[in-house]
Amino acid sequence: MRRYLFGRDTAIQETLCYDVVIIGSGIAGLYAALNLDSRLSCAVLTKEGVDISNSWLAQGGIAAAVSKDDRPQFHYEDTLLAGAGLCDEKAVRILVDEGPEDISALLDMHVPFDLNEDGDLQIGREGGHRQNRIVHAHGDATGRETVKTLAAIAACRENITFLQNSFLIDILTDNGRAVGAVVYQDGCKIIMAGSIILCTGGIGQIYGHSTNPSVATGDGLAAAFRAGAELRNMEFIQFHPTGLYCKTPESRSFLISEALRGEGAILKNNRGERFMVGLHPMNELAPRDIVARCIMREMAKTGQDHVFLDITSESSEHLSSRFPTIFGECLKRGIDISKDLIPVCPVQHYMMGGIATNLNGMSGIPGLYACGEAACTGVHGANRLASNSMLECLVFGRRAARNISEQAAGAKRTSIPALPRPEEPAGDLQLDASGLKQRIREIMSRDGWVIRNKTGLTSGLDEMSEIKQALESSVLDSKGRMEALNMATISVEILKAALKREKSVGAHCRED
Ligand SMILES: Cc1cc2nc3c(=O)[nH]c(=O)nc-3n(C[C@H](O)[C@H](O)[C@H](O)COP(=O)(O)OP(=O)(O)OC[C@H]3O[C@@H](n4cnc5c(N)ncnc54)[C@H](O)[C@@H]3O)c2cc1C
Repeated sequence: MRRYLFGRDTAIQETLCYDVVIIGSGIAGLYAALNLDSRLSCAVLTKEGVDISNSWLAQGGIAAAVSKDDRPQFHYEDTLLAGAGLCDEKAVRILVDEGPEDISALLDMHVPFDLNEDGDLQIGREGGHRQNRIVHAHGDATGRETVKTLAAIAACRENITFLQNSFLIDILTDNGRAVGAVVYQDGCKIIMAGSIILCTGGIGQIYGHSTNPSVATGDGLAAAFRAGAELRNMEFIQFHPTGLYCKTPESRSFLISEALRGEGAILKNNRGERFMVGLHPMNELAPRDIVARCIMREMAKTGQDHVFLDITSESSEHLSSRFPTIFGECLKRGIDISKDLIPVCPVQHYMMGGIATNLNGMSGIPGLYACGEAACTGVHGANRLASNSMLECLVFGRRAARNISEQAAGAKRTSIPALPRPEEPAGDLQLDASGLKQRIREIMSRDGWVIRNKTGLTSGLDEMSEIKQALESSVLDSKGRMEALNMATISVEILKAALKREKSVGAHCRED
């Protein structure tokens, strides 16, 4: 495997030094930055702007046992059940026990969570939860409101510097320790740091249909993998059952949140028949993997490429105030959800696997941490319980930041280790990045989708390995080409893991 993507002759324009470098400005990255000891200097990098991330798009809310009737123990049980026996129980215990404190911390930071008339948190319900435990902001704009609040606070902290439009290329290691990052921002820069936290989010762009934005190309996972970190549980990809169906494929699928089913929306086929009853005791509120597979089977049975969600039982007034984002987006597309059925189909949504970390977010490489969707703490097991992901960003982002602060690991590097001499291809082959990205999406949507089998996974893996090899031996002189190699790297690891796991469990379904 090619260790570094930057070239032997790459001109390094600048070298910067911080105690901590955080790659990613979603909820994991921002919350980690805010929980660092303020004496540590910290750079927060983001590939584009703070408004382009999975966090920004998150609709439904954050799960935590904060209602009078709920207990962390109930949340623990629901999380383990969704994870199909593969959760790390210690990590789940930490998630559910510490989560309510992080919700309080967000309230103290003035995240505008929706409150009821008595001034208490409004608490909704989503699939797989046996209690109401989802806190939300501006109805269905929880992620955006949380990111806006955290980013505004971080911008006022003297120890935090934002570096937007900065693309992480590689993690630098020296004697087995992570010591810095190679970044592209108007030229190549090296950022030396005592600790690096990867909060680079999801991988959705490797699929043809995903709710994830354009930045979700798995760069952090691929860079960590090249540096020697372990990737864990890569076969476990969550497909959301209800992406808004669109005849012409879009670069990002619009999500119809599970919270709509929590409010009573039901699934129907093209003949107007409800089909979830009898398939699972929780009907439409069964865990996502089950609903996604039931929809795929219903689509195959009826020969359609979508089914419908029906929330016409609710009034226009209620729906537009409870789900302003979904109501407005559907209306823009000519669908009045209080009167019309919503066409939906499964779409890639979330990565349960990622960079293997311990309970403090540390990867196996000293100095390298990972939090949020890029990490695999083990809390999700084989399937994530709805709205547990933003909670994981908070709980483990904070724990990583506190661990770094306690260790004062900010042993700032003032000198650069002997720069690696990247192995480069002898030739000057320049490949078509957008064509290859498209091919990667086609292969993953065919062979690594909701229902998998050995034949598809084997041929997908062969083809993907060829693409990866071709990219590795080509000139990687643009962000697009580097992203394409990162996508191929992650896809190979997903297909390998999916092939190895022969039995269906959680979100991983083998029809053979
Ligand atoms: C439509 C949608 C709805 C969702 N709804 C919910 C919900 O209701 N509840 C819930 O709990 N979860 C929800 N999720 C999942 C949840 O939003 C994410 O798992 C979580 O927000 C991930 O946060 P993060 O900080 O780990 O990553 P992200 O928020 O994705 O942030 C990743 C950051 O990394 C940066 N980055 C990536 N690559 C590079 C690079 N090479 N160089 C520099 N920077 C880079 C990006 O620019 C971005 O700033 C939803 C997800 C989507 C897509």
